[in-house]
Amino acid sequence: MTQSLAEYRADHAVHHASLTMDDDPDQKDLGRLGIVPGLPRQEYPRRLVRALVSPRLIAHTVARRISRNFAPRRRPLRTACFAGFQALLLLFAVGWSLRVDGPAPLIAWAVSWALPLTIGHHMSMVLYALGLHAWFKESEEPGWSGYAEKTGARFFVDRTPDPAPWTPTHLRAWARWWIRFMFWHLVVGRFFVIGLTDNGCHDAHHADPAGRRFDWANAAYARADMLDGSPLARAHFWHTWTLGEAIAQNFDQLAQEARGGVR
Ligand SMILES: [Zn+2]
Repeated sequence: MTQSLAEYRADHAVHHASLTMDDDPDQKDLGRLGIVPGLPRQEYPRRLVRALVSPRLIAHTVARRISRNFAPRRRPLRTACFAGFQALLLLFAVGWSLRVDGPAPLIAWAVSWALPLTIGHHMSMVLYALGLHAWFKESEEPGWSGYAEKTGARFFVDRTPDPAPWTPTHLRAWARWWIRFMFWHLVVGRFFVIGLTDNGCHDAHHADPAGRRFDWANAAYARADMLDGSPLARAHFWHTWTLGEAIAQNFDQLAQEARGGVR
């Protein structure tokens, strides 16, 4: 959630080898936000709201991102270019605001740059990380089945209505499905939280991280092919529908974990 690209690259192989380990950076960040195992189930939505809007927690994320991504010793040219570009944009916005005697250019800069890079990134990452894995889970199952318990697929849509004759009820169900798809799942789930990636099929990615059989560019179809062709995948793959269901399932599982699971 707050790592630099270089740190992410180094940690990602470890993340694959040892899912939900003590040192998993996303898991640690969620713990820092107060989302830890063993709390009463009803406490989690409250913690999520606090994690999303708390100025202190947002400032903490921003400070960590700056210290880990913006340190001059790493990629000095890139850092200088980014800082110079933003400084010029800000100067331009301030100058223009003074010229037109109004805050509109500054507001435009804040909405297009400052807010997405700070509050927007923080909120997106919290919602993204929750539901990505069964965090803090300790599985009793051996081998792949234990591993697979910790990662499923997340489909950022509602289930489609059942096939049925074209009755008014059925048409209403489809209309509702499309409206929620266009104005909720696409905007919030796809564009704001997960982006245009294959990440919804995260179980298939973990089953075949090198992409030998899993064609990540066509993830939805490739995962279905894996299910068709692999009894192991059929036995252990699982999924949730909608962003809300993925997060709710994560909360159910966290509430069931013993508090001793806090690591
Ligand atoms: Zn993962």
